[in-house]
Amino acid sequence: MRRLEISDHSRDNAGLKYVYPVVSRRAGGVSIGINLSPEASCNFRCVYCQVPGLSRGKSAEVDIPQLEAELGQMLSVICQGDFFAKRVPVGSQQLKDFAFSGDGEPTSAPNFGDVVDCVIRVAAKRVETQPLPLVVITNGTLASQPAVQSAFKRLGAHKGRIWFKLDAVTRAGFDRINSTPLAAEDHLDRLEATARLCPTWIQRCVFGFEGTASDDEAEYLSVVRTLLADGVPLRGMLMYSLARPSQQPEAPKLRALSQAELEVRAEPFRRLGLDVSVHA
Ligand code: SF4
Repeated sequence: MRRLEISDHSRDNAGLKYVYPVVSRRAGGVSIGINLSPEASCNFRCVYCQVPGLSRGKSAEVDIPQLEAELGQMLSVICQGDFFAKRVPVGSQQLKDFAFSGDGEPTSAPNFGDVVDCVIRVAAKRVETQPLPLVVITNGTLASQPAVQSAFKRLGAHKGRIWFKLDAVTRAGFDRINSTPLAAEDHLDRLEATARLCPTWIQRCVFGFEGTASDDEAEYLSVVRTLLADGVPLRGMLMYSLARPSQQPEAPKLRALSQAELEVRAEPFRRLGLDVSVHA
């Protein structure tokens, strides 16, 4: 296994099909990544997506016994010996969570619920320490499906958290950034339903795009204000910019924002009472 860096989120750095370790800005340490789309298929095509060879589609059925074996193997490697000293930069030498992320939309796996149950089982086996939190990083498009909602509810009951991607709040914004003309109202309904099932944070990528902001800031602020006024239990917002190069044709038109620029963007949301963390 190579030395881990924030700039390298290779899914194959442990030679496994579903499981890979990363140093995560989001987690503030090492995260055990679970890639449910090794074939690199997603129902979005975000202009900033770092996945090489991304295609449109959904994840295939996950081999649960293989996933469980890989998780056990990864935990023994990380928790024994000199893994942190040899592979992880100083300041990040702590195991933080399991994260369903990877090269596509995790909830599109037909047996996503079984996957969630498998990870809950593995996390619960860590009797010597606190069970690790489970984080699902999702674009939220399938969050109205009963099977996905049921899995989110079980996650919520087992220290689960959801990072719900919301880069835009208008159909034009979804089309421009995620290459998917979603109906904004339906997507916000899915966000609300998710937040009521499991602790949920908005996950928002912000960047310069063809010389302008990635989406309409005033509109975004107004949507968040309404969600909060309606009592939607959002836990906060994770605002971040581009840490790794986009593999999409739009890559040359994108500009990463600095920490100071992100702080300026975060401030109006904080004034609404939302907990906002920023990661350049
Ligand atoms: S949702 Fe994630 S995997 Fe899918 S295109 Fe966007 S960044 Fe890539």
